[in-house]
Amino acid sequence: MKNNIWFIRSFIVACSAMILFATSLSAQNPNTVNFPAYSSQTREIMTFPKVLDYEVLSCDFHIHTIFSDGLVWPTLRVSEAWTQGLDAMAITDHIEYRPFKNYTNSDNNTSFDIAKSAADQTGLLLIKGTEITRKQSVFGHFNALFISDANPIAVEDPKQAIVEAKKQNAFIIWNHPGWAVDSTYIKDFQENLIKEGFVKGIEVYNSTEFYPRALAWAIDRNLTIIAAGDVHGNVESGTLKREGVHRPMTLLLVKEHSLTGIREALNAGRTLAFFHNFLAAKEEIAKGFVEASISIKKEFSNDKSTFYTLTNKSSVPFKMFFNKDLYELPALSAISVSVPKGASKISVVFENIFVYENRTLAHDLQLN
Ligand code: ZN
Repeated sequence: MKNNIWFIRSFIVACSAMILFATSLSAQNPNTVNFPAYSSQTREIMTFPKVLDYEVLSCDFHIHTIFSDGLVWPTLRVSEAWTQGLDAMAITDHIEYRPFKNYTNSDNNTSFDIAKSAADQTGLLLIKGTEITRKQSVFGHFNALFISDANPIAVEDPKQAIVEAKKQNAFIIWNHPGWAVDSTYIKDFQENLIKEGFVKGIEVYNSTEFYPRALAWAIDRNLTIIAAGDVHGNVESGTLKREGVHRPMTLLLVKEHSLTGIREALNAGRTLAFFHNFLAAKEEIAKGFVEASISIKKEFSNDKSTFYTLTNKSSVPFKMFFNKDLYELPALSAISVSVPKGASKISVVFENIFVYENRTLAHDLQLN
């Protein structure tokens, strides 16, 4: 009897499997075996707790396509940004330098127009921008974000191009101030643009470079601190991924998850520049970021020590120096530490958070 039941059950299971198999074969070419997981795109999730009551958005405001000297089509930029966890991006094709012009067109708004619907479909916020590219040793390069039309900005005089962008209410960033030049001083043209209120932001990270002095300029002149990929080829994720490093991005503290929210945060200077597992930010924002990211739980005490669990709730790792030792607190991880019994705080130097040229963040974590 037992055997009979086993046989009937097996028979039913086998029949069901055959029906399913036949159904799937009838829907497909029997000579093709499909592996759908390899063709679907998945998005990496960047995780940040609210900082100082603001939502944190990850953004890249400096990107090129084939409509200037980039090597890829605009929609590919959207796909890269989405899969790598960005919330917003700006395509900033050069208006003056377009080596593939013969194969594209002469309208400087085209890369944005092509990328827009792809961005909308994935919920990625796309900002209209352009790069104003003049002699680096005298004038420099500038990104104008939130423009309405890139074509009128294509004028010969460098100052006039900036004035035209400003007329369109652009947010203007001084790009890679230390690239290919002596970056130890600010040139007259740039200083005047800052003094006259045209330039409001500055890149301290660009591509694979960090400009420590530009961070001092940002703090001293109250400029918004930016990290940008300035990518021209594909976003090379191989080496970065192997090293556990994200593409350069600006983390933005926004009141609302929208283009309006992004613009307001840029104007207010609420940013952290993030690259190579380093942050660069204004001190109060850096403090807010670590306070929001690290939670502290008391676990156990003995005669000499108290043991705590430090949990990092963000996608940014921390290198923390305290108790005469360096501690690594990886992204979305926890470590256990001991402190002398009765201690009320841990005085930490965050070795991967710059708050000024050659100065890292010192901040006390209060113990409960
Ligand atoms: Zn560029």
